[in-house]
Order: sequence, then C-alpha cells, then structure tokens
Amino acid sequence: MICSDCSRPITRQSKTGRCRSCAARRCGSDPVMVARRSEALRRRMRDDPAFRARRARELHCRNLSARKDPAVAARFLEIIRENRKGLNKPGVRERWLAGRKEAGRKRHETVMAWCPPEYRAEYKRLRQSKKMLAAEAKRIILAQLTPFERKMQAVRTGAGISAKPVLRASDHSYSLIGNSSQLAAGAPG
Ligand SMILES: [Zn+2]
Repeated sequence: MICSDCSRPITRQSKTGRCRSCAARRCGSDPVMVARRSEALRRRMRDDPAFRARRARELHCRNLSARKDPAVAARFLEIIRENRKGLNKPGVRERWLAGRKEAGRKRHETVMAWCPPEYRAEYKRLRQSKKMLAAEAKRIILAQLTPFERKMQAVRTGAGISAKPVLRASDHSYSLIGNSSQLAAGAPG
C-alpha cells in the first residue's frame, strides 16, 4: 500500500490511506477537526491541573531554549516592546495605577488577617520603630491576645462559617414529595 497523497509506502493498518505526516497535514487543514481539537485541549487545560502544569513547564522550557537563538530572542523583545506600547494609550496607565492601590489594600488585608484591628497600630510600631522582623512582631502580638480575642478574630476572618449545620447527602437523600407526605401522615392533628 502507498500513501494516497505522497505515494510513500504505508502499513496495511492505516485507516486513512495516508502516511502519518500526510494524515496530520490533512487534519490540520480541516477547520472542523482543528476546532474540535482545540476545544478538547481547552477543556483539558481547564479540568486537569496536572496536565496544565506539565504544559506550562514544557512551554517555559521551550521558550528558554528558543531564546538561545538570537533571531528568536530579537522577536521576543519585539513582542514585549509591542505590548508595552499598549501601556502608553490614554487612560491605561491611570487605570493600572488605580487598580494597584486597591490590590495593595486587599493584599495587606489578606496578609494581616491574623491580626485584630485593635492591634494593627501596635504591630506597625513594632515593625517600624522597633525595626522588628514580621514573624517576630506577629509572635509578640499573638502572645498578647486573650483566648477570647483569638476566637473573635477567627470568627471575623470567616472561621465561623463552618459552624453552620452541614447537610450530608445521607441526611436529606429523600425526595421532597415523599418526605412531605410522610410528614403529613405522621404530623399530629
Ligand atoms: Zn503521505
């Protein structure tokens, strides 16, 4: 048997009637096949963290080795320069800066979540006036908290949420209709 496109010999098991490279080329030029394949890839990138991490690693390695080629490195720089031009458009820089402030506030709030608001000033004093390391200042503040304050802070930062009743599947794996008729039958009066 030979490939119907390039006449190279192929195995009898070939389902497409083409050699591997011709079959791949034909798939790549079929919009339906291309769309189906990119959709499958997109879904797997979304649902499979291990696959996603592996692809990211591969891409990173490929970029690193590609940049050893001066022509590719120049192209990379060109792309970065093009992207930077977008930052010079009116309003873009202002929007970015405005977002930074909010992001900084949120990050601070996340990092300091362990510390009750009443102790923030003391923490700041230890860090800035006493030039203490963050971990040391945190240790000192935490040592000052009463058990009640610690509990309050835990609740404030969301630990209390898990105190809501947890309905397991086994607790309510009945249908509403079945249950309400049972209730009606068993209900006094
Ligand atoms: Zn071929």
